[in-house]
Amino acid sequence: MQHFELIVIGGGPGGYVAAIRAAQLGKQVALIERERVGGTCLNHGCIPTKTLYRTAEVLTEAQNASRYGVRAENVSLDLESTRARKQTVVDTLVGGVQSLLKANHVTVISGEASFADASTVRVGDETYTADAFLIATGSKTAVLPVEGIGLDGVLDSTSALRLDDIPNSLALIGGGVIGVELAGIYRAFGAEVTIVEFLPSILSTIDNELAKFAAKRLRAQGVTILTGAKVTKISGAPGDFTVHAETQDGEQTLPCTHVLSCAGRVPNTDGLNLEAAGVASDRKGIKVDENYRTNVNNIYAIGDVTGRIMLAHVASDEGRVCVERMCGKRTCVDYSLVPSCVFAFPEMASVGRTEEQLKAENVDYVVSRFHFSGNGKALSLGEKDGFIKILAKSDLSEILGVHIAGPHASDLIAEAVMAMKAMLTVAEAARTMHAHPTLSEAFMECVQRFSGEAIHVPPRSS
Ligand SMILES: Cc1cc2nc3c(=O)[nH]c(=O)nc-3n(C[C@H](O)[C@H](O)[C@H](O)COP(=O)(O)OP(=O)(O)OC[C@H]3O[C@@H](n4cnc5c(N)ncnc54)[C@H](O)[C@@H]3O)c2cc1C
Repeated sequence: MQHFELIVIGGGPGGYVAAIRAAQLGKQVALIERERVGGTCLNHGCIPTKTLYRTAEVLTEAQNASRYGVRAENVSLDLESTRARKQTVVDTLVGGVQSLLKANHVTVISGEASFADASTVRVGDETYTADAFLIATGSKTAVLPVEGIGLDGVLDSTSALRLDDIPNSLALIGGGVIGVELAGIYRAFGAEVTIVEFLPSILSTIDNELAKFAAKRLRAQGVTILTGAKVTKISGAPGDFTVHAETQDGEQTLPCTHVLSCAGRVPNTDGLNLEAAGVASDRKGIKVDENYRTNVNNIYAIGDVTGRIMLAHVASDEGRVCVERMCGKRTCVDYSLVPSCVFAFPEMASVGRTEEQLKAENVDYVVSRFHFSGNGKALSLGEKDGFIKILAKSDLSEILGVHIAGPHASDLIAEAVMAMKAMLTVAEAARTMHAHPTLSEAFMECVQRFSGEAIHVPPRSS
């Protein structure tokens, strides 16, 4: 039996960051992982989707190359090379995490961890004890309680990312972030895609203006969107499925070759045997306090398994802060400034509050918008579609929310996070010089619009 100061269970972006940070702080650490380190993020989530997104982007640009004065004939997708590139990117990053764990003297144990009691876990025939445990076992695909969801060939995001083939027609259940990203990618790869969403709109958690923009762009891409539609049954077999849905206009049937279920994710505690350790959890996840401590004194939990904000950067930040607090540091996660991105066409990204939230909270706010069509770099790139929307307090003392749809929105949002973190006033942000010609000038001009100082927008009509 081996003893460690800290055993981390789960090697995703929450677990591996926590393990490395704890080792940096002088702890003797083991990390138990049942698949490959990197977790959902590297192996089945963020990285494979973004790699395929890039292929979809290049394919679309190549198909429209004449817009850039380039002649490109017979452009088509090479499925095998696409799969190989995705795997190379994933393997490179997994290898990088393995090296970092090794360099930081974290002992990596392969296998599934299961608690024997509050200070012991079993992995196969081996037993390990620790002063403290950190559970970072992530999340899994939510299984819709719908007849036929378990039929052979019904895809989830993990199997969809394997890219076994390109569907002729794909019914995609769930218009959340993952569903929208996969819809855009598969559409670009040539599938006929229909999103079936239960709620009145897709992307219901983001600023409504961005959600509407995304729906419009998806439709322009050729994706059919069915909202307010409750899937009641899936029938048929691979290559010949039918999705049955209740809609305002009665029951609709959607014949399709493939079905992909993207109806959310739920915390994963499978196989952990939490009861043996006395750790309380329910279907919303493992409950933790401000130190990420569970109801059991020496057992902590972070990331998706706590069922709060299911994003890789949140899991990493929680992992880092959790072990820092174990070591007596007073760091904390700033949950008011969590950026989030949607890799649609174009990209979208947000931080802070949405306009709907400000209305609901009766906050006095003002709005500024700047369209990328007024930005020189966006025009040079041939990517002028989209806008930046900034919400600020009416007295311009604080930026409350930034929502971007447009080229490189996922990178541009970092500036908004930094400005908000530094609590810059609108005037301070507006007077921060930006290099020319860059997309970031759009952010500067958008803040400048609050005080009528922006140069590259038509004057307001009186
Ligand atoms: C298709 C898709 C796209 C996504 N895109 C993004 C994105 O663009 N940006 C973003 O921020 N987030 C994205 N996410 C979400 C992101 O992947 C998760 O929020 C993040 O991976 C959570 O990290 P985690 O460390 O909590 O858990 P995970 O990454 O899920 O890691 C948990 C690990 O624990 C292991 N494990 C589980 N049980 C045991 C056990 N008993 N013993 C040993 N090991 C165990 C698992 O094998 C896994 O490796 C995406 C998710 C999906 C599915």
